[in-house]
Amino acid sequence: MKKVLIIGGGIAGGSLAIQLMEKGLNVTVLDRGENHSSVIATGMVNPMVFRRMNLSWRAQEFLPYARGFYMGLEKKFGVSFLKDLKIRRFFSSEQERGYWQTKQNEELYKDFLTVHEDFEIPIPNAKSEFGSGVVKSAFWIRSETFMTSLHDYLRLTEVLKIEAFEEHLFSQTELEYKDIKYDAVVFCCGSNNDKIPFFQAAKIQYNRGQILDLESEQLPEKESWNRKGFILPIGSNKFKLGATYEWNEQDLKTTEEARDKLELVINNITDLPYTIVDQKVGMRPTVSDRRPVLGMHPENKGLFIFNGLGTKGYMLAPLLSFEMAEYMVNGKPLHKEVEYTRFIK
Ligand SMILES: Cc1cc2nc3c(=O)[nH]c(=O)nc-3n(C[C@H](O)[C@H](O)[C@H](O)COP(=O)(O)OP(=O)(O)OC[C@H]3O[C@@H](n4cnc5c(N)ncnc54)[C@H](O)[C@@H]3O)c2cc1C
Repeated sequence: MKKVLIIGGGIAGGSLAIQLMEKGLNVTVLDRGENHSSVIATGMVNPMVFRRMNLSWRAQEFLPYARGFYMGLEKKFGVSFLKDLKIRRFFSSEQERGYWQTKQNEELYKDFLTVHEDFEIPIPNAKSEFGSGVVKSAFWIRSETFMTSLHDYLRLTEVLKIEAFEEHLFSQTELEYKDIKYDAVVFCCGSNNDKIPFFQAAKIQYNRGQILDLESEQLPEKESWNRKGFILPIGSNKFKLGATYEWNEQDLKTTEEARDKLELVINNITDLPYTIVDQKVGMRPTVSDRRPVLGMHPENKGLFIFNGLGTKGYMLAPLLSFEMAEYMVNGKPLHKEVEYTRFIK
């Protein structure tokens, strides 16, 4: 395999382009120049799923790989976008605190949960009736800075073209697009996958997310506070407050309902004053079994998909793009849980 066409230049398509370029392939990325997910994302890389107080799927593998990947790109691009992050979870119940208490001493969690003798240490200005715990090893990526520098790099290396993929110009039997032949075509179209005819079985769902941009001179700058949502300090008295999860809403408009929900999140954590300066909306490409979708089409050989990164694209994309490149170039099998063929009965 020598020449690859990638459709979609979000974090999925962009990371895959980097991995394939590192393997010496000739890569072209088409992006229609309209991103509703990777640029909007808060970019937090959090090993925990708080709802179940569990470690996120394969977090022990994804987290260290992602950190190394982003640090490598910071060097390559000459731009800084990775920040370490201290996440403080305020427990919603005795039961939740109990889960943490049990898990904090387990081997699996030793790199991710801070061991607390006393959860009740008061945190000034926070409503903390059940106490709180601090997550270790998390970080966040300034998504706008990252995506801008990724696109700048891909443009400079003549990989990225800002244009929409036009199906009538594509021959799937010849793997030819605009009279150029490719060895592989990979679809990384995020929530736009339902407009791509080849991988409909994946049933990627719309999961709309809204966030608020805040300013405050009093909210904490040194840690992210979390309970049924998060407040993320991004420097210079600016914060992100998120996020909503709205299933099968396709409209990319901000809503008052979401704004009220998000205000409830912050009001349940603190009474400190803030000003809302903006509201943003994006679309997560999510799969019902909560696993990404990777692989080659079983009938249309040479057509691939890399999608379904859901709520954790910034954590998953680095290692999954490496595994995808290994699969495409060296035939290394993909992780069973991500295979596209799981949808084909
Ligand atoms: C509000 C919000 C907050 C989030 N916060 C986090 C977070 O804190 N941490 C985290 O890890 N994840 C977060 N996410 C999730 C994360 O953003 C996604 O997992 C990730 O962005 C998905 O990346 P993607 O490349 O698959 O899709 P996208 O970013 O949507 O990229 C798809 C690209 O394909 C292009 N495209 C589509 N169709 C075509 C076509 N026909 N021709 C050419 N180009 C096409 C589009 O222009 C787009 O640029 C958040 C998402 C939202 C909405």
